[in-house]
Amino acid sequence: MENILVIGAGLAGLTCAKSLQKAGHSVLILEKSRGVGGRVATKRLYNTCVDQGLPALEPQGQCTDQLLADLMAARSVQLWTETTHQWQGNHSLLPLSMGKQYSLPDGVNAIAKYLAQDLNILRQQRVEQIHYRDNSWEITCQMAEGELTVYSSQALVLAIPAPQAIPLVAPLKLPSILTPLESIEFDPTFSVMVGYTPTPQWEALPWQILTLPESSTVQKIFYDSRKRNHGEQVVFVLHSHPDFARHSLDSDDMETVARTLLETARERLDLPFDQPQWQQVHRWRYARPCNNLGLTCLSTADPLPLICCGDWCLGNSAEAALLSGNGAAQWLNAQLIHSQESPSL
Ligand SMILES: Cc1cc2nc3c(=O)[nH]c(=O)nc-3n(C[C@H](O)[C@H](O)[C@H](O)COP(=O)(O)OP(=O)(O)OC[C@H]3O[C@@H](n4cnc5c(N)ncnc54)[C@H](O)[C@@H]3O)c2cc1C
Repeated sequence: MENILVIGAGLAGLTCAKSLQKAGHSVLILEKSRGVGGRVATKRLYNTCVDQGLPALEPQGQCTDQLLADLMAARSVQLWTETTHQWQGNHSLLPLSMGKQYSLPDGVNAIAKYLAQDLNILRQQRVEQIHYRDNSWEITCQMAEGELTVYSSQALVLAIPAPQAIPLVAPLKLPSILTPLESIEFDPTFSVMVGYTPTPQWEALPWQILTLPESSTVQKIFYDSRKRNHGEQVVFVLHSHPDFARHSLDSDDMETVARTLLETARERLDLPFDQPQWQQVHRWRYARPCNNLGLTCLSTADPLPLICCGDWCLGNSAEAALLSGNGAAQWLNAQLIHSQESPSL
């Protein structure tokens, strides 16, 4: 039996686990994917790496400021840009200042790998069920091969998007947790990653991040290969507009999704986006929360400590996820210290 189980190795889960481990608790993270990071995701494809979720790390508050300082001390984080360009139609671009955007040579996922160092993580463990049994939490996971494994703990942290927590929490009959979870909605997004042979036309583009405010198909385009100076390929990531993603969310035809976004980019920008060397689409069913709880985390001590955390508690950003993970750890640490002092609780 573990002291604490954390479900989800995104920014919130990793931060929470790190802080609890530092406080002396035995913590195990269960993650459904092969890698860590969740929406802080970098894909290795066609001899390059591409950031398919969070595009860059921006100092947004105390947690991201601290993380950036730690990453700067530990490895090479580089300033990518502090300007976004807005497409105004008719070949006109409006440069706008934004917060500093930092990139990592191996992709943003290196942030998660940095946070995951020294943590106890089991990957490819999809949590399917949670029960309260014999004065402990009993967690049933499905592994990649379909096999089921059961873990138990004295405290449980769900560091996953609220809609994914609902089916796990609902059978526990804890309305103080379930009702707020049900109030959270997420926007979906498609990320279309595309590679091209370098040409003077691509190389002359003045922007790193382009927003298309009048399009309901493509929201933003990131010049991803400019983060890395690898030079052999030109790589872009197109993020769909949430309305487009909502409309095509359950489609099996990713080819059409990619083609629609690339055609829109070609038409608007008059650039050969429709002729990539390679392309790949990622569907983010839960990309960014539309609303938040205004609380660092959701928690109950009865029958045993159970906490839900993630960006959706406080906002829709990396800062919100880190703050929520830290807040969950603080609440749980105080709770566990208190229950050791009063064993009858
Ligand atoms: C396309 C896109 C663009 C973005 N752009 C920005 C931006 O510009 N600026 C910004 O600040 N933020 C941005 N974000 C948001 C930012 O990435 C998130 O706010 C942050 O990464 C959320 O971290 P989290 O830990 O709360 O959740 P997640 O990253 O979602 O982590 C949850 C983890 O739980 C795992 N999991 C889920 N269910 C289970 C289960 N049943 N069993 C086991 N594991 C499970 C998942 O695999 C995942 O690893 C963007 C996100 C996306 C997708």
